[in-house]
Amino acid sequence: MNRHNSVSPQQEDTFYHSLVANASAAMQVLDKKGRIRYDNPAFALLTGYTNEETNGKRAIAFVHPEDRRLVFTCITEFIASGEKTSAPVEFRVQHRNGNWTWVESTAVNLIDDPQVQGIFMNHHDINLGKKRSTELRKINESLHKRASVLAESNSELERFALVSSHDLQEPLRMVTGFLHLLKKRYGDQLDSTAQQYISFAVDGSDRMKKMINDLLGYSRIGTNQEETSSIDLNILLAEVTELFRETISKNGAQIESGHLPVVYGKKTQLQQVFQNLLSNALKYRSVRPLQVRINCTEEAQQWKIEFSDNGIGIDPKFKEKIFVIFQRLHSKSHYSGNGIGLAVSKKIIEQHGGNIWVESEPGNGSSFYFTIAR
Ligand code: ADP
Repeated sequence: MNRHNSVSPQQEDTFYHSLVANASAAMQVLDKKGRIRYDNPAFALLTGYTNEETNGKRAIAFVHPEDRRLVFTCITEFIASGEKTSAPVEFRVQHRNGNWTWVESTAVNLIDDPQVQGIFMNHHDINLGKKRSTELRKINESLHKRASVLAESNSELERFALVSSHDLQEPLRMVTGFLHLLKKRYGDQLDSTAQQYISFAVDGSDRMKKMINDLLGYSRIGTNQEETSSIDLNILLAEVTELFRETISKNGAQIESGHLPVVYGKKTQLQQVFQNLLSNALKYRSVRPLQVRINCTEEAQQWKIEFSDNGIGIDPKFKEKIFVIFQRLHSKSHYSGNGIGLAVSKKIIEQHGGNIWVESEPGNGSSFYFTIAR
């Protein structure tokens, strides 16, 4: 207030009284024993009691029973400290209709001020913020619960896949062994149809063996004990490209790459991802001369690696399906494979904290992307 000399003490009183009466913060003056001497209208709104009704009552009576000890301790320690203003404290105040409101309150010690001789309390309504943070906490808790239920069922499934694929190996070895014996010992006594049946059965059991091995490999990704190390992806790509040297030169494929980063991860696993993506680009080529481009983009928290090819492409409606174990879009007679490569890559990338996806159009090549922490 711009005080003018002409303002009388009475006018000044009215001025301050009007300020307090119209303040949106709830204010009170308590005596030394914590009894209410004055409430402003904002406090009356908070509790539903008029100043006349609260006058002389103990202020703590309006505080939630669970918060009383905290409020009492804070106020007593504050008065004993000799400080002028207290640290803010949060507690609940009850309305006469039974509802509770969260407030954040500070106290000003004016006991020695002859004009006041009491403690001036300032309460701010923080109900909305508290409600939101309680809701957020509840959402968080339920998310955590769901995540741990999922993690539990996931690892149960993994144990199941590991145990069953391991256990299936033995009977399969028996079937294959006896089929071979049958062919060797009685092959010349069987007619050509019987021989063909045996070779179908051998073929089937070989395929099953391969699938069981793939499943075992897939299940074991989670149990890989390999240490995390820093990996130069330029070197990794060169090593993987070397593995496919023959196929690359036979098909006149062009493999180009931008500069790739050094990342932290499990080397054999990331090598596996590079190998799967590159071998797919080589396998699913079109009649055009094959071009594969490997690029990296820097993002806020991660690197985005891109493997693009100009091959046969993928119908977008299958962009999720191709990452599911044993799911393929072609018959074995057209393209060899078991449908495990992308499922393995997805599992590895997710275990490195990233994502993997594809963008493609049939006939227009495919771009596989994965992210990895920087
Ligand atoms: P596989 O190659 O053994 O079938 P993958 O899991 O590696 O298994 O791939 C799953 C399917 O995704 C493939 O059958 C193929 O249809 C499709 N696919 C993967 N990579 C490409 C690519 N670069 N271009 C076109 N199709 C692809």
